[in-house]
Amino acid sequence: MYLYEYEAKRLFDRAGIPIPRGKVVTTATEAAAVSVQFKGRVVIKAQVQAGGRGKAGLVKIASTPHEATTVTQGILGRTFHGEQVAKVLVEEVVDIAQELYAAIALDTASGLPVILVSSRGGMDIEQVAQETPEALVRFPLEILTTFHPFRAREIWREAGINGEILPKLSAVLEKMVNLFFHLDAYTVEINPLVVTRENRVVAADGKLIVDDAALAKHEEELALCRPASEGLEDEAKKAGLSYVSLDPEGNIGIIAGGAGLSLATMDTVTMLGGKPANFLDTGGGISAEKMAQALRIVLQTPNVKGIIINVFGGINNCLTMAQGISRVIDEDSPRARILVKMRGHSQEEGWALLEKRRLPVIKYGTTAEAVQLLLDLLGADRLEGEQLCRSC
Ligand code: GDP
Ligand code: MN
Repeated sequence: MYLYEYEAKRLFDRAGIPIPRGKVVTTATEAAAVSVQFKGRVVIKAQVQAGGRGKAGLVKIASTPHEATTVTQGILGRTFHGEQVAKVLVEEVVDIAQELYAAIALDTASGLPVILVSSRGGMDIEQVAQETPEALVRFPLEILTTFHPFRAREIWREAGINGEILPKLSAVLEKMVNLFFHLDAYTVEINPLVVTRENRVVAADGKLIVDDAALAKHEEELALCRPASEGLEDEAKKAGLSYVSLDPEGNIGIIAGGAGLSLATMDTVTMLGGKPANFLDTGGGISAEKMAQALRIVLQTPNVKGIIINVFGGINNCLTMAQGISRVIDEDSPRARILVKMRGHSQEEGWALLEKRRLPVIKYGTTAEAVQLLLDLLGADRLEGEQLCRSC
């Protein structure tokens, strides 16, 4: 079984191989939301079960959330080797100083595993292998003896690598060998294995092929790298909401009407010193039920201390939205601070309903004012908590 890059990378991560931060998504709006987390600069990569995407224009860098949207729109739905692109991986851009190559593969001639490394990784590795085979170091892997760290260093040295980067690269190679055996893999490949300008080593790509005959043995482990494990995102999708959980340390949950307003709210939260925990666009035609679902999903996002609901009653109706919010307050008594900025159709009725629940409501203010108030309230909560602690 050929794993998708994002699946391979999750397994790399579990094995201790450094990977870029990022997220796999299925829509252009979600891609833009993820890009905000990385100040707009991301690499967007089609998830397909084949290599050579870079040369086919299926790996692209975007510098702004808007660009992330258009780039993703251009990639999703394209066909590559008979497969239609349904997902893209959106990652922070790594600053490349050097692209290396590292792989463990089965040598079909001998039937034995072989390690392959090169200091000339990247998109032209096939050409390197053909034209300058000496630049690709081959090392047969003895399956019955332990693979010692000094071997890993020896191999990289033979590829011309020296200095402080050597131990880091050797650690990655050792982990790849372990993964190869542990998962009954046919191939574990990292190309490019990037050395960054700050001398970090990062797996910028990942290819992992697991023996089909051994799949049953690894069912649980492989399930962990599937998006199905992301419960909240699935729940949101079923409810017809566009939701992406972001920074696991994010403390501010966001619910907004429209992708543009959602992104602007995220930006404002970041600008004023908060950390967005999620992106959620309610879309149009929102019912009380759907608003309640949206709020419940954001409330379940780990670490959320405060939630800003930033909506406009144009297609949507403020009273209906307020009814959904009120239902959650009445039924769940949430502990997180919730602040609502809402204007438009049936606004007076909506405001009244929320104020009855003692929710802070921003009626005519800006998004920045709303976010600032939420952060102030959270700051005051924290102070109060500390004082309580001191007096007890
Ligand atoms: P492949 O062509 O299917 O193997 O896809 P890769 O994931 O290897 O990406 C192709 C190329 O895109 C790489 O060889 C890099 O040169 C480039 N690339 C991928 N990720 C990054 C990144 O984070 N930063 C930069 N600067 N380039 C990247
Ligand atoms: Mn690659």
